[in-house]
Amino acid sequence: MIFSIVSANGALERKVALWKINGASGWMAFRDEAPDKRGEWEEIMPKPRVMIHPASYENVRDAVDKAFELFRPDVRGKKVLIKPNALRASDSREAIVTHPAVLRAVVEKVESLGPASIIVGDNPGVFDYGANEEVFNKTGLMDASKGYFKNIGDDSVKVPFNEEFMPVVSLSKAVLDADFIISLPRFKTHGLTVLSGAIKNSYGILPGAQKAMLHKAAGNPYRFHEAVVDVFKLRVPDFFVMDAVVGMEGNGPASPDLRDDIGLLLASDNAVAMDAVVATMMGCDPGKLRFLQKAKEAGLGDYDLSMLDVIGELKPIPNFRLPPLGGEAVIGNPALLEMMFARTKLRPQVDSEKCIGCGLCVDHCAVSALSMGSANTPVVDADSCITCFCCQEMCPEKAIILK
Ligand code: SF4
Ligand code: SF4
Repeated sequence: MIFSIVSANGALERKVALWKINGASGWMAFRDEAPDKRGEWEEIMPKPRVMIHPASYENVRDAVDKAFELFRPDVRGKKVLIKPNALRASDSREAIVTHPAVLRAVVEKVESLGPASIIVGDNPGVFDYGANEEVFNKTGLMDASKGYFKNIGDDSVKVPFNEEFMPVVSLSKAVLDADFIISLPRFKTHGLTVLSGAIKNSYGILPGAQKAMLHKAAGNPYRFHEAVVDVFKLRVPDFFVMDAVVGMEGNGPASPDLRDDIGLLLASDNAVAMDAVVATMMGCDPGKLRFLQKAKEAGLGDYDLSMLDVIGELKPIPNFRLPPLGGEAVIGNPALLEMMFARTKLRPQVDSEKCIGCGLCVDHCAVSALSMGSANTPVVDADSCITCFCCQEMCPEKAIILK
């Protein structure tokens, strides 16, 4: 956007260019051809906004309407991709995936705004494409998709990635084809990234086993934080609506420890801002999270709350339990992280009382560190395990803990 500033007699004084790229923004003033002043967007433009609004699954449409009213996402005539968090087949009451009521409300709202087309899709899990329909069916997300579901894992294109991890990754074609992406993360903790919010939800744009391969390529949690941001950067979504009606605490992203006392819907057009608000609600300093640091360095936004416009009441959730390794000192200290995830430390342990011997965890281990033991209970090869948490995420019985 370029504005002209004129004096009282109508003579041109300055031209001011406002720019916004991937959520980062700024301004430059021009006299003649050369820029003569640069500054922060916030001096002349509104700060990135995060809406915090009361919601329940019975009345979530009211909160979704409020979010669309505030942010006015421009979806008319556009190809819209709506991406819920569909981690794995589960009952919606387990709060592992975006609640179907939130997805349905967003789909219906977008429908009413005249888009060219709508696709609802995600790439659950880390292994087989066939699991996609199954996950959507079992979670109730298929019904909530109102016929717009597409298995976005069955058509992908290769794109350049960060050479430090993998030079090339496959990305769901539907992601690249979309004019407008609405991301629907869930308010959850995550054992590796502390929280699984707006930025982490984009990890699902990678189909199939690549998610696990990237875990392996990253090698440790500190670098995994960085890899998550690199995936997010492949296609930054345009709008974020977070299901925080019921949240997850403890050892997420598939923990049995739920918080049904949150009762909120969050919305933003900037993922860094939204995740900063979520971290604060969880009682964690956003500035200590490596993935937010990396996102800020990449110009994707700011986690400094003074740089954000929070619409609604932002307050920490009382007695919120972060993941076991989620303490700020650990998060911010790569050496400590390295040590805690070192070979002799954290490993998956199977609770034989809960395990039903389905073998899903064995199938999903990218480095074949799990195998079925004699009692039809998985055993881990501690030397091969890269503590990626994938087996824990996939276990339908919540029979795996890492300790
Ligand atoms: S996924 Fe869970 S229930 Fe299935 S074999 Fe592994 S530990 Fe057991
Ligand atoms: S055993 Fe589990 S935590 Fe270890 S590498 Fe395999 S999937 Fe990851």
